[in-house]
Amino acid sequence: MIAPRSLAVYACDPECSLGRRYAEPPAPTRNAFQRDRDRIVHSTAFRRLVYKTQVFLNHEGDLFRTRMTHSLEVAQLARSIARVLGLNEDLVEAIALAHDLGHTPFGHAGQDALNACMVEHGGFEHNFQSLRVVDTLESRYPQFEGLNLTFETREGILKHCSAKNAQYLVDTEIHAQKMMDAGLNAQADQVIEHKSGLSKTGLVSIGSRFLDHKQPSLEAQLCNLADEVAYNAHDIDDGVRSGLIDLEKLSEVPLFENFRAEVHREFPGLSSRKTAYETIRRMLSAQVYDIIDSTQKAIALNSISSLEEVRGAAPLVCFSESMRIQSTQLKRFLFQNLYRHSKVAQTTDWARNVVTDLFNAYINNPKEMPPFYQSRANLYRAVSDYIAGMTDRFAGAEHLRLCAQSSVPSEHLRAQII
Ligand code: MG
Repeated sequence: MIAPRSLAVYACDPECSLGRRYAEPPAPTRNAFQRDRDRIVHSTAFRRLVYKTQVFLNHEGDLFRTRMTHSLEVAQLARSIARVLGLNEDLVEAIALAHDLGHTPFGHAGQDALNACMVEHGGFEHNFQSLRVVDTLESRYPQFEGLNLTFETREGILKHCSAKNAQYLVDTEIHAQKMMDAGLNAQADQVIEHKSGLSKTGLVSIGSRFLDHKQPSLEAQLCNLADEVAYNAHDIDDGVRSGLIDLEKLSEVPLFENFRAEVHREFPGLSSRKTAYETIRRMLSAQVYDIIDSTQKAIALNSISSLEEVRGAAPLVCFSESMRIQSTQLKRFLFQNLYRHSKVAQTTDWARNVVTDLFNAYINNPKEMPPFYQSRANLYRAVSDYIAGMTDRFAGAEHLRLCAQSSVPSEHLRAQII
């Protein structure tokens, strides 16, 4: 498989981008997607990912994945595949690095707790929050709030969306466009500026595709699947390293066991540590090759020759049927044996309490938050945004400060050398 360096006809071309919410002159040396990627890397939310939990709490060991290392692994996998398929690597990298920016501290436990707190006030969803981070919460540029990313990067970040949130996006973005058309730029703080105009594409709001049942770009589809491949692989690695999963137990998972047996045949007597690494490496490669092959077949089968045809077709970036089954088996295994493990549950119960206590503390006393959040019109959303942006350790420290409770559960999941 020789990787093409030129863009395929169905790839996203930065020259044909649907544009940014606020018009900006092009950068002299970088294309629009490179610029998006750079803005994401320099953002505050990106730096915080290093102290946010993936599965294991951040303090439990220096070797476990964090949201930062997970995002880098997704970017690596997605770029490798993008190059072979002739997709836009810069766009893929931007989407991958930004896809988890909206995650709360403490992983899914934090998100569930925050959503429960917000249930009467619009709810909380990490994917929608990632978009809020890049659209409004990053506050660093003099001309606009947010990072003012291109439509294509924003579309890739918003990989799923409820009909209610999609309609909200459509309403606010079109309203802002009308205000801009009327010359009320200063008031249009949700403005979209699209080169090709509102009516030509039918995709002016990134909410539209969820209402119209259209697909996003192949670059966005690819990042979505690379995310799944990355966390399935690294959660096995972290699970084994933590001692919560053992290699014998993993023999129930055909995708792992077939490669483990292959490694064992080729390298009898290999240490369990190297066996795990080599097995995971082969699993990753097999999934990458499977995605490349299956996606190329789907593109050919549907005679795809433009980005518009990508949007109108069924999802094209995919596993083969057999790999899909194996991936589902692996996911089910991780769910039962890792995510629901009693020791993980102990820490997630603690994390849920921290988030809930913090939420109530800030609602009752908004002055405990920085002025940027105190001054917002919707206090509930302001508190939700503030907590969602926290790192694990900052949330723990705030819990100690405001609720005078011991912050850290006993350290029973320390990483070990397998
Ligand atoms: Mg992810």
